[in-house]
This record gives sequence, structure tokens and C-alpha cells, in this order.
Amino acid sequence: MSFKDGLTGVANRRMFDSILDLEWSNARRSQQPLSLILLDIDFFKEYNDCYGHLRGDDCLKLVAQTLGAAATRARDFFARFGGEEFIFVLPETDAEAAEKIAERCQELIAKLEIPHQGSKVSDCLTVSMGIGTIVPVHGDKQKDFVDLVDQRLYGAKDAGRNQKLSI
Ligand code: GH3
Ligand code: MG
Ligand code: MG
Repeated sequence: MSFKDGLTGVANRRMFDSILDLEWSNARRSQQPLSLILLDIDFFKEYNDCYGHLRGDDCLKLVAQTLGAAATRARDFFARFGGEEFIFVLPETDAEAAEKIAERCQELIAKLEIPHQGSKVSDCLTVSMGIGTIVPVHGDKQKDFVDLVDQRLYGAKDAGRNQKLSI
């Protein structure tokens, strides 16, 4: 079985699941903060509608390669979470440091200046992000943590997109 996403070449969802398992255990043992950043491209359906599915694919590749460079520590992990969603697992990373990495992501995507006529929030491609940080204790569930970060991502969408939400 593959651990690599066929389109973008970054790690896939299966790899994410196993890395999160591992880092969750590490964080519980060490009582160090573990952070997640979940990113979703804004109005990507409209991007495909405007520019075609092939350019949509190219865009996903570029975004994946660009975001992959946003977190640089040895255990930082980045994966394609789903269609146009990406995720970071950031061990030994507190809320403040995670926020900085999310800011870097936003800057890196802005610098690409990928034209996006179908977007209602910008002339260029943007992302929304949910951020979470936890020091897991007995009884905490990984799934609840991922769900929480996902809810924050959707909060960022509701709040107007092209932004991050961490509470
Ligand atoms: P929002 O700002 O709310 O996230 O809107 P959205 O249009 O990005 O969200 P939605 O979930 O409606 O659409 C996601 C789109 O991403 C639809 C789907 O066709 C596209 N997509 C998912 N995977 C791929 C892919 O591998 N290649 C291409 N080209 N498009 C993809
Ligand atoms: Mg999505
Ligand atoms: Mg989207």
C-alpha cells in the first residue's frame, strides 16, 4: 500500500493517520504540545469551473509543494488530507508557534499569486485554516481533536475565508 499521494507526491491520508497515531502517543508520554493545521483551498470548485480540471490538478501540485516548505523541523509532517485539503502535524509545537506556521502558509500562497477569477474573496488563490493545539491526557481522543480543528476550518470559511481560526 502506498503512503504517497499520486497527484501531488506528498504524503497521503493513510500516512497522516499513522503519523498522528505515533505523535499522539509521543505527546501523551512527553506531555508536550501537539498542533494540527488543516487547510482548505477557497472556492476550488470554481477554480476547476473557470480554468479546467487539468489546471486544477496543476494548481494542487503547486500548492502542495509550496505548503510542504512551510514547516521545517525534522518531525514536522505534511500531507494531502483530501481533495483540496492539506494538513500539518506539528509535534512539540505550541499554539503560538503553530499560528506562525499558519501565517507563513498564508504568505507563501499569496506569493504564488495564482489567478483565481472565480473566487469571491480575492483575485488570487487563497486558503482557509483551522488550527488546534493539545497536550493529550488519558481519555482524550485523536478523532475529537481532528474534528475540533475541522470545525475551526469551517468557522474560518463562515467568517469569510482567506483566514485562520484557532479558537
Ligand atoms: P470552499 O471555499 O467552501 O472550500 O469551496 P470549494 O469550492 O473549495 O469547496 P468544495 O468542497 O465545494 O469543492 C472542492 C472542489 O475540489 C471540488 C472538487 O472537484 C475539487 N477537487 C478535489 N480533488 C481534486 C483533484 O484532485 N483535482 C482537481 N482538479 N480538483 C479537485
Ligand atoms: Mg474542501
Ligand atoms: Mg475548498
